[in-house]
Amino acid sequence: MDSPITSIKGIGEKTAMLFHRVGVHTVGELLSYYPRTYDIYEEPVTFANLKTDEIQAVTGFLKKVPSVTKTKRYAVTTVVLEEFGEYLHLTWFNMPFLKNTFIPGNTYIFRGRVQKKKGRLVMEQPEYFTPEAYGEKLNTMQPIYGLTAGLSNKTVAKAVKQALDGRNLNLEYLPEEIRMNQELAEYNFALQTIHFPVKWEDLLLARKRLVFDEFFLFILALRQMREAAEVRKNECPCKPVKETEQLLSSLPYELTGAQKRVWRELLEDLSGEGVMSRLIQGDVGSGKTVVALLALVCAVYNGYQGALMAPTEVLARQHGQSIQEMLDQAGLSVRVVVLTGSMSAKEKRTAYEQIENGQAEIVVGTHALIQNQVHFQRLGLVVTDEQHRFGVRQRETLADKGMFPHVLVMSATPIPRTLAIILYGDLDISVLDELPANRLPIKNCVVDESYRPAAYRFMEKEIDKGRQVYVICAMVEDNPELELENVVDYTEKLKAAMKPSVAIAYLHGKMKASEKNEIMERFASGELQVLVSTTVVEVGVNVPNATVMMVENAERFGLAQLHQLRGRVGRGKHQSYCIFVSGNDSPDTKKRLEILGKSNDGFYIASQDLKLRGPGDLFGIRQSGLLEFKIGDVFTDAGILKAASEEAARLLEEDPALSGEEHRELRKRLDACRMLGDGKVSL
Ligand code: ADP
Ligand code: MG
Repeated sequence: MDSPITSIKGIGEKTAMLFHRVGVHTVGELLSYYPRTYDIYEEPVTFANLKTDEIQAVTGFLKKVPSVTKTKRYAVTTVVLEEFGEYLHLTWFNMPFLKNTFIPGNTYIFRGRVQKKKGRLVMEQPEYFTPEAYGEKLNTMQPIYGLTAGLSNKTVAKAVKQALDGRNLNLEYLPEEIRMNQELAEYNFALQTIHFPVKWEDLLLARKRLVFDEFFLFILALRQMREAAEVRKNECPCKPVKETEQLLSSLPYELTGAQKRVWRELLEDLSGEGVMSRLIQGDVGSGKTVVALLALVCAVYNGYQGALMAPTEVLARQHGQSIQEMLDQAGLSVRVVVLTGSMSAKEKRTAYEQIENGQAEIVVGTHALIQNQVHFQRLGLVVTDEQHRFGVRQRETLADKGMFPHVLVMSATPIPRTLAIILYGDLDISVLDELPANRLPIKNCVVDESYRPAAYRFMEKEIDKGRQVYVICAMVEDNPELELENVVDYTEKLKAAMKPSVAIAYLHGKMKASEKNEIMERFASGELQVLVSTTVVEVGVNVPNATVMMVENAERFGLAQLHQLRGRVGRGKHQSYCIFVSGNDSPDTKKRLEILGKSNDGFYIASQDLKLRGPGDLFGIRQSGLLEFKIGDVFTDAGILKAASEEAARLLEEDPALSGEEHRELRKRLDACRMLGDGKVSL
């Protein structure tokens, strides 16, 4: 399992590099690179039975040679099929050779997503087969893997097959009793079946077993860590200081009841017997930053350094600035040092020096930077912002450097409290369940594309009042296969559609960090009035003067993600608006988006999202980006999660160190999990 993937026949250095890009380095990692979904090749349907937005196959009789037309950018190959007076249009982009592939008079099977465009039924980029070739695929389930440019699905499937065929069977490591209690399939069967299922029922069984394992091992590892953490005493005791009061009285607002309560809890931790280990869960806009700053100030005036880690560079810089402003306003002279990847080598060196010699009192940076390369003089508190999955190893990494600081994790991920307790077993939890009182609820609307001109006029009105606007698009560059609005082109269109006086710019993940920072700063300062962006602004960005959030192709996003995006507005005293533009008019999309229209409450949205998707949607929810388990999902698999948690508790009660002979294989398995550097439990 530990051998590199190059040990698999047919995988050379070049292919291995591609696998590395998707996080697969070893045979074991390849085997746990589970399919994203499965493709089932069903019987072709008649044209009358075609359903839009579904992937279907048809049998088509080809009357003449396909036509090829050239547009500015693509060569478009077109075939029009006819069946009992119904028509289906097939198009391929940049595949002019197809003209010679199809022979008039022959019958082919075409398979692809059915769409309705300008009143016509169309399939874009359909797969094509001879009837014989299709017959061989009929009713089989083909795994579909996550891919990267250059790595084809075929390559992955073939590698997995090789790896499965060539390996020795694993010994079963789950205690027999647990397997019986929970009706879990045998491990080797589950692994084989998750990649190459023969029938749907088997797949469900296999998946259940692997989900159980993932949760079970994760919880066992956490529980054992917790034992270790509980005895750790507070090596950075912090007394209450007057400077936090000074900060509080300088704020232009009063803390909410929830903020006050959580701040009290933090203060008790900081000054208590044991080291702090706490999660603050609070919906977007609940005011987590100021609470974290209070804790940081307390640590600083007790003689320690504090660190604030953010998931993106944009957010790190923004935190650095707003913290500096708040400190200045309070008349506190605390040295804040920002550390980001895009700084020059010289700037970085200066920052490292200041951190090491203790001049830097609060350090703000991205997760990676602060964790890996920095030596603190006397680190007392680490705050991690917007990290949805607490890295089990984070504390261990710090401990390895001889540091035992207080640890505070902040997250907006709305997971029900019971689940949080199971998952974050070694953390205490504080909840910010109250939004600042001066907030007007965001007004939402779900519209179709025809509403755009009206939306633009509305945005101009807000801009005239001095406000600012976000527009979110799904993709960066033009992609002929997906008619999604994309940032670059959209910005041009928007410039043409709005008054010339409006300052518009775009932001996307592929830009250089320094460019991103510049754009973000110009937007934050009010110089730019409209920011057209991909989801890079999704987490944490705080520009309270922005009052309109318009999301194009809203149907492409998960509800949780849309909720996060919406959280970018409604952060100040002005009335804010969110416009969700739907690119299709399917009733399902409507229903989903209307949930957002009805509520601004993250917990409610998560639960409704779950209800709508239903337990039948095994794989869809994983795209929502909540808690990245490889295969398990804390929402849909809540039942399995609970069972795994109970079995883990029972097992540890019987045999706390798992030293029994019958637990030997389990122990090995758990050790293997812990070996993984990033703290993620892997199967
Ligand atoms: P999040 O919890 O999403 O990280 P932030 O900490 O960024 O939220 O706060 C969002 C906005 O609310 C900021 O502009 C902040 O200044 C403001 N804010 C925080 N607490 C309060 C409060 N008690 N009353 C009014 N505004 C507040
Ligand atoms: Mg935040």
